[in-house]
Amino acid sequence: MPDQIVLTGLGVGLSSVVGQVFKVAAHAALPGRAKSKDVNLEAPSLREAIDSVASDLAALGQQAGGASAEIFEALTYLLEDEELFELAEANISEGWNAASAYAMAVDEFGELLGGDPTFAERVADLQDLSKRVQAKLAGIELSLNLPTEGTLILVSEDFSPADTAQFTSAVKGVVTTKGGPTSHTSIICRSRNIPAVVSCSEAEKLQDGDSVLVDPVGDRVVLGGAVSDATPALDFVAISDKPIVAVRANIGTLEDAQTAASTIADGVGLFRTELLYLNERTAPSIAQQTEQYSKILSAAPSGPIVVRTIDAGSDKPVAFLDMGEEDNPALGVRGYRLIVEHRSFIESQLISLEAARVASGREVWVMAPMISTVQEASDFCKMAREIGKFNVGIMVETPSIAAMIADLKGIVDFVSVGTNDLSQYLFAADRMNPALGTLLTPWQPALIRTLGNIAEAAKTAGISAGVCGESASDPAFAIVLAGLGMGSVSASPSQVNVVSQALSSLDLEKARQVANLALGASSAESAKSAVLAALAN
Ligand code: PEP
Ligand code: MG
Repeated sequence: MPDQIVLTGLGVGLSSVVGQVFKVAAHAALPGRAKSKDVNLEAPSLREAIDSVASDLAALGQQAGGASAEIFEALTYLLEDEELFELAEANISEGWNAASAYAMAVDEFGELLGGDPTFAERVADLQDLSKRVQAKLAGIELSLNLPTEGTLILVSEDFSPADTAQFTSAVKGVVTTKGGPTSHTSIICRSRNIPAVVSCSEAEKLQDGDSVLVDPVGDRVVLGGAVSDATPALDFVAISDKPIVAVRANIGTLEDAQTAASTIADGVGLFRTELLYLNERTAPSIAQQTEQYSKILSAAPSGPIVVRTIDAGSDKPVAFLDMGEEDNPALGVRGYRLIVEHRSFIESQLISLEAARVASGREVWVMAPMISTVQEASDFCKMAREIGKFNVGIMVETPSIAAMIADLKGIVDFVSVGTNDLSQYLFAADRMNPALGTLLTPWQPALIRTLGNIAEAAKTAGISAGVCGESASDPAFAIVLAGLGMGSVSASPSQVNVVSQALSSLDLEKARQVANLALGASSAESAKSAVLAALAN
């Protein structure tokens, strides 16, 4: 038997796999700006590179299917825009080579698009296209070229959406040196049931062809490990036809609402309204919003629908809200803090939601994101209650409001904990920074104890409490949340059924015992292993 080497990281998924390492290297750096040696050759080579990238995108779209196919189609339109090509030609005539001329044209084009409300794609997409065209011209390979056969364990620093769209059916496991529990790689692997270990810094040591065990339940990758070495997978056998707490779905679009309706979700626990507007350059009117919200409310799974007013700012820029540059946007004017400059838009959302509530006949709850003080909570609740017949609440995403739950008595009907942001602010760890994944795992005892305090204070104050961050999409962690006293969890649609199954596999008393083990732990590793061991028995 070969020597076993154990590499630790953060596991994603409940089953393990053994396969062969396939390393995906970061591509070479793109060349810098340069003048042309022969300007007459530049426009034809640029045209050729654009055509070639367009066919790559078409193939990627076909491979990915569904919503990703539409994204790639929209990208191709942008890529083949003649106005963009003419801008590049003008730069070529000033002596630049094709790659530089195109990169400069994209920068200029991005600025032009900035003023045009009808363009849907964001400047970031354009820059990605620019990178692809430049790489094509420099002969640098950006596509992953993954084999379609075998049992591959992909190993890389991290994977972008364009990368994960290229995963073939031979990809059976994923290991990344960076990335955290809420990174794109984790979300995709969880939804496709691909066992993964992220934040596994020592994975650099792995070599192509090495046989490894990816053991997410054990938070480890074992070089030379066999299936029999894997931490036993959790098998949740339902003992009841109903989960011990309500399991709702997180949505952002009409398509999400439709997908959620095909699950056993009990309503919607988080409707992220800003996702409708990331590409909009003018604010939608009340009539437009009412129409859009009515369709989404009508399509959503039966049960209450918790709608969040716009959470723009930081990682979610919304152009029509013109928020200006901030040095530290995650700590800046985001979420409900926009009320100062953009009260009329938030009011217009509530007015539209009330009209959509009446039109659809659905039960609508509304909540505000990024609340830091009791005064903010009270101002939001007053405004919302004056506008519509909603249940009214707030998100708990800041440590400051987490400490004040008791004082929300009589003010809010409910609180919904956003563990993605609560972890970010509790640990002072940027949720977008792939190097900080180990601080952002929900198994960190400081988060678990904070969640326990929130649930207890809410119960005493007669406020209903739930969790809608990514942590609720982990079935074992969802059990901890129920045991801590949360009354509902809201998961991404792909996880709703498996989370429901887990929450139907035990009674509340057992969930409380399990949560107590997590509350007693002093490290993320010991919290997770204690809980998994208890659930395995
Ligand atoms: C959260 O912070 O956990 C949350 C659900 O909000 P978002 O991820 O949209 O910031
Ligand atoms: Mg949040």
